[in-house]
Amino acid sequence: MKIRINQIPPEGLELEEQISAQVLDLETESIKFRGPLTVKAQVSRVTNAVIAKVSVAGRIFFDCSRCLRESEAALKKDFSLHFVLDKGDVEINFDPDIRQEIIIDYPIKPLCRTDCLGLCLKCGKNLNEGKCNCNN
Ligand SMILES: [Zn+2]
Ligand SMILES: [Zn+2]
Repeated sequence: MKIRINQIPPEGLELEEQISAQVLDLETESIKFRGPLTVKAQVSRVTNAVIAKVSVAGRIFFDCSRCLRESEAALKKDFSLHFVLDKGDVEINFDPDIRQEIIIDYPIKPLCRTDCLGLCLKCGKNLNEGKCNCNN
């Protein structure tokens, strides 16, 4: 999401864009996306700074770190960005800051649900689907 500074009217600007996870460089070893993220921004200009209230929504896909099943979860975050303008700045690119705000919240061990029972260490059965016969 880029914005030309001279296109921000005095009353501010509202933007909405679909941005792919690839453009924002959001995919990691364990976190994947299958569709774009919806990024909304309320942009306003003060004397020598631009403030953006940003709201991001999308879905992440990952393998549960306990039961290994493929899972998905909502990704949603609201945050504010603040850009101090230098003389000669023409355009602001929000993408690097948006990326930072999102990846900082990535779970280190993503779970399909918080009480995931995981796999039996002996037979490997997914215990979310019922007990196994290992008697543990
Ligand atoms: Zn799980
Ligand atoms: Zn078992």
